[in-house]
Amino acid sequence: MPAISSKKPYRIGRSRTGLGLFATKPIKKGIKIVRYFGPLLDSRKKKHEAIENKYLFELNGRWTIDGSVRENVARYINHACKPNAESDVSPRKRKVVIRAIKNIEPGEEINYDYGTDYFKAYLKPIGCKCDACEKKRKKKRAEARAEKLRLKAKAEKKALKKAEKQAAKAEKKLKQELNGKSNGVKLNGKHFNGHGGKSAGVKAIAVKSGVPAKSKGRSGREVSVSA
Ligand SMILES: [Zn+2]
Repeated sequence: MPAISSKKPYRIGRSRTGLGLFATKPIKKGIKIVRYFGPLLDSRKKKHEAIENKYLFELNGRWTIDGSVRENVARYINHACKPNAESDVSPRKRKVVIRAIKNIEPGEEINYDYGTDYFKAYLKPIGCKCDACEKKRKKKRAEARAEKLRLKAKAEKKALKKAEKQAAKAEKKLKQELNGKSNGVKLNGKHFNGHGGKSAGVKAIAVKSGVPAKSKGRSGREVSVSA
């Protein structure tokens, strides 16, 4: 790791994705933090065109900075979708400077947006680990958890309702059965329902034939019915 003068407002430190650059002093919005530098590669040269690494910073169609050299401290700056710095590119000067776009507090990680090409090629496939994306992921996870709980509660409520319905049904059936037994009036195996049919017929026949029909009174004694 390159030695960094204590005058610099940053240090290399551990970040979520490996190493990163962190502010050690307050950095005011608009301040140039560090230059992104390295050998210039010319796309017209086959030898240059063949070079491939994660630290290539394309200035324009022709020129690219190879920032993979150790001295280039700016290469430690990680990407963020909502960054606190930006890469200020001067293609004509073939120069890149990382500039604060927010006031940065000591301890805060410095980051800039690497751009859509880099994002699509390197970050999207593995999932961006920047604060904004982690926050989004966390929110999504919390929402998914809440939705799961909601569905579970709904299913439980439904199951409870069903159980209650079944219990009510069973109770009704039981009551009907108990009522039938307590009446104890059965004719030819059929429940006595008090209307017409054979039961009424029996009484009518008894009256007609002059035989006193007997019915049970409340006391249980046999009471003669006068014809
Ligand atoms: Zn991100």
